[in-house]
Amino acid sequence: MSPRPPIPDPLQRRVRQHCGYGCALCGRMPTQIEHIEPYSKVLEHNFENLVLLCLECHGEVTAGRQSKRAVLDARDKPFSVSKDRAHYSPRLGNQFAVSLGSVGFSSAIGNSFAPFSVNGIKPLKISLLDRAVVSLRVFDRSGSLAVSIVETVFQFVPSKLWDIRLSGTRLKVSYGMRKIVLDAEISNSNINFRAMRFSVDKFPIVVDKDGIMFPNTKNGFSKLSFDATSHNDMTFFSIGASDGQRVFDFNYVPSVSDKDAWDAALKTRR
Ligand SMILES: [Zn+2]
Repeated sequence: MSPRPPIPDPLQRRVRQHCGYGCALCGRMPTQIEHIEPYSKVLEHNFENLVLLCLECHGEVTAGRQSKRAVLDARDKPFSVSKDRAHYSPRLGNQFAVSLGSVGFSSAIGNSFAPFSVNGIKPLKISLLDRAVVSLRVFDRSGSLAVSIVETVFQFVPSKLWDIRLSGTRLKVSYGMRKIVLDAEISNSNINFRAMRFSVDKFPIVVDKDGIMFPNTKNGFSKLSFDATSHNDMTFFSIGASDGQRVFDFNYVPSVSDKDAWDAALKTRR
């Protein structure tokens, strides 16, 4: 028998989009693409025979506690599509740091912090309780919510335009064929946002390996690390109106239009 060929990338993407990125039975990530009729029987990768399952549901199916009928029904009406979200809930420890490209942020147990605020809105917040609790809201350039993390549960809205892959420690969210919206490395002690392109209050923010950049203000930070161990509820820097403690502060100067800032950011900082 010839070796089993890999499932081609475009077919994998189609299966993820069809199932709404989460397990067809329970909506959880990470998932694997499984054959409903075993590959050894059908000897082909056929879209209709492929389904996304999490490891736990796959185990239930293999053990016979979940019927093939249930998997077929879930393939027709995947959980994430009917509930409008796929979710991923990493287990974080209480020793926790977050970095945005080359800029790192940390604090002591018991404290909360927000790396930055825009007009008083803090899109990314970390609370170090008995476990780290992370919240984030990522909006696309039109202001629609693309990805949210609600108390460490990543939530993704199913869309045929998106692709979301979680493989090992790496989470990648892309729009269209290749535009990366979010690329993060996640472990129990760290989230490193390697790349993000999003907006807060329609204000574009770009994160890449160099750091964090606010194209409208032509300001950014790179190769820095911040530690707010002696402060609770710290916002490290803010743009526009703000309140509370902060390390840095700069004003939103709309010298460049939002659209021009986006276009420049997307062109020059890939
Ligand atoms: Zn599942």
